[in-house]
Amino acid sequence: MKYKRILLKLSGESLMGEGQYGIDPKRLNQYAEEIKAVQDQGVEVAIVIGGGNIYRGVQAEASGIERVQGDYMGMLATVINGMALQSALESAGMYTRLMSGIKMEQVCEPFIRRRAIRHLEKGRIVIFGAGIGNPYFTTDSTASLRAIEIQADVVLKGTRVDGVYTADPEKDPTATRYSELSFQEAYEKNLNIMDMTAFTLCQENNLPIIVFDMNKPGNLMHILEGESAGTLIN
Ligand code: UDP
Repeated sequence: MKYKRILLKLSGESLMGEGQYGIDPKRLNQYAEEIKAVQDQGVEVAIVIGGGNIYRGVQAEASGIERVQGDYMGMLATVINGMALQSALESAGMYTRLMSGIKMEQVCEPFIRRRAIRHLEKGRIVIFGAGIGNPYFTTDSTASLRAIEIQADVVLKGTRVDGVYTADPEKDPTATRYSELSFQEAYEKNLNIMDMTAFTLCQENNLPIIVFDMNKPGNLMHILEGESAGTLIN
């Protein structure tokens, strides 16, 4: 396997599957199978899950809720997704730990870096919920930060498209996919890979990002086998 320890970032929206909101159990089970396949090959897997299928802080103000309050609501949404994912992974036969950036002892462990690393070494899948625990951040930034903290080899950003394109492939049929890009190129071309905080954290810490289509069966494994199945930014 090309990478020994990975940080997989899944958006909340990806959990909706074909639905318009909420969590699609079929999608969860599909992800669990993909993750199990790579774990069976000895890869250590940490996951950051988003909350966009349930709530995002930016939508708060429109409904008269303060932004910061909305951000905490978004962070709690990621814990709900994390719990759902945890159940799916356990049903598929994996050992897991959900670690939260906000303390909620009855539900999950608090994030403690050394403990997270220990879980990974013991072959447990670690899910990081509640973002970094602070408002005005995103789960992409959480993915970059946690990946650096646990010394992951790569951030794998699972999306609906199979990489980074010259233009939006859902709108422009002439758009082509980059197989590899430097951080500098991605920045100069203004390619929206992650928000700037997340992107800069990876760049400054020499942490490669791979953007890939998590919904295509076998893709996660292909990437770990070293195939060019997405866009590598390094
Ligand atoms: N959030 C936050 N701090 C964090 C991570 C998340 O305030 O460290 C909030 C923020 O409001 C965000 C929401 O949680 O909109 C859900 O996360 P995100 O939008 O990143 O989820 P995704 O788009 O990946 O589903």
